[in-house]
Amino acid sequence: MSAAVSWLESRGDERRAVAEEAAAILLREYRHRFPSLLPIDVRKLATSLGVRIHTVPRLPGDARLFPVPGGFTVVISGELSSARYRTAIAHELAHTLFYRTSAKVPTRLASHTAAEEHFCFDVARRLLAPRWHIKALGLERLKDPAEVFVRLIRLLKLSRPVAARVMLDDYRLASGIAGRWSRLPSGWSPEPGRQYSSPDIKAEVRRRLRKVARDYLEGELANKAPGASISVLFEANRDAAFVVVPLSRELVARSEPQWT
Ligand SMILES: [Zn+2]
Repeated sequence: MSAAVSWLESRGDERRAVAEEAAAILLREYRHRFPSLLPIDVRKLATSLGVRIHTVPRLPGDARLFPVPGGFTVVISGELSSARYRTAIAHELAHTLFYRTSAKVPTRLASHTAAEEHFCFDVARRLLAPRWHIKALGLERLKDPAEVFVRLIRLLKLSRPVAARVMLDDYRLASGIAGRWSRLPSGWSPEPGRQYSSPDIKAEVRRRLRKVARDYLEGELANKAPGASISVLFEANRDAAFVVVPLSRELVARSEPQWT
């Protein structure tokens, strides 16, 4: 089994390590040529990997990777926001790890799976926010998670969901939960499949945090009609109070709901 395919079986800390290793492989040439360019220029990164980018007006699923003689072409939808465009390119570049490139036209090492899909999202975040950028920006030293979050978005040009996962999961720059919530007739509810939390948070703490989140949304956004949605990030600090960061607008509202 090739290294890339065996990576898919890793979990927990090992998973974080192999995703970082995979990103380092893809970034090797780029980092050598552009050591201080910040944020990552995804077009230059693609070129360094022999990947051409072809933009079409609209493409369901945002982007797709095609093996072609001598490398790959990524076909990407022209209607994406800048952050989503960057995420989509990075994700497709991660898929190139799952091809044998010795032949004239790259061929798949194994058939595509959901595990590969998840792994490519994990690698994509590290392509857009490599550890050397996190260090260069001094993000590990910042005490205020809201400040870390803003810098990830503004300086590394990350989308809010990507910034939240980089912060909570990949580099553990803060501890908490993030996710998209929608307003149902019965009140605010977390959207299944769109919730993230720090790996160090226990299920019981996660439940308590969700309750704080729900109470906060019920209080602050009580007048929103059913169908509305918002992404929020809640950080658990040592005093068991929480900083609240709405992800869906320019970072503004902050409050500190207490445990109840
Ligand atoms: Zn994919």
